[in-house]
Amino acid sequence: MRIEVLGADDTHESPTVAAIGAIHGDEPCGVRAIERFLATGLQDRLQRPIKLIIANERALAASSRYVEVDLNRSFPGDAESDLYEERLAHRLWSEIKGCVTLGFHSTVSFDSPFGTFADPTFLKSRIMRALPIEHAADFSAVAQGRSVNLPRFVNVEAGYQQSEAAAETAYECLLAYLRAMGALPDSANQTPTMHYLVQTVIEKSEKQDYTIRAENFQRVAPREVYATTDQGQMLTADKEFWPVLMSADGHDVLLGYQSDQLGEISQTIPE
Ligand SMILES: [Zn+2]
Repeated sequence: MRIEVLGADDTHESPTVAAIGAIHGDEPCGVRAIERFLATGLQDRLQRPIKLIIANERALAASSRYVEVDLNRSFPGDAESDLYEERLAHRLWSEIKGCVTLGFHSTVSFDSPFGTFADPTFLKSRIMRALPIEHAADFSAVAQGRSVNLPRFVNVEAGYQQSEAAAETAYECLLAYLRAMGALPDSANQTPTMHYLVQTVIEKSEKQDYTIRAENFQRVAPREVYATTDQGQMLTADKEFWPVLMSADGHDVLLGYQSDQLGEISQTIPE
């Protein structure tokens, strides 16, 4: 794990703002955003100390999601575990315990950036509105032991894995986040963001090939076919939903999630 503490002055005040790249080793966008930030000289403009972390360096070097077990599902971790990522989760959590934290990810499901979080607070809503994203997926109902379940922690899915666009978006998100947290002097640009409550997992069979017939964050109507398979199966909506992280080849047994669109996040999570 690589940790850069920036903007600290003589008071030795420890950072309470953090950002993390390479929670997953095959999603380098956050690492590229952090390295670009370090190369720009913007750190001289910091108004409060920040901590930039490159979490899973071993998985990053191998360009794989993880080495032994998914870091993002290993929180709060275990210092004594035999598994590398469980020990890493413990160390990472102790680094960010006192911080507001933004984690960077990328997906195989959707090229536009979106936020993920759980356990809504006004702080999380404010970060979602400050980031250049239109959609925020709330995993409160389905996620446990993930980074989004940590207090004061939010993620951004910056775009397609390994893409230039994801690296560019991650950098824009890092700057927007640092402005929102008062770490960079420019004022934060708050824009509308839709809040989706993720409700149900959509399972898939490993024996079939799927074609997705719907778009993530676009309403699927009751009785609409949202996916088909090579064996002629049609997946039909029981009731309306908005797909989240839906992709034919992102996961062995998970096609994606059904969510409800709750409304604009400043309305659904008021101050
Ligand atoms: Zn990820």
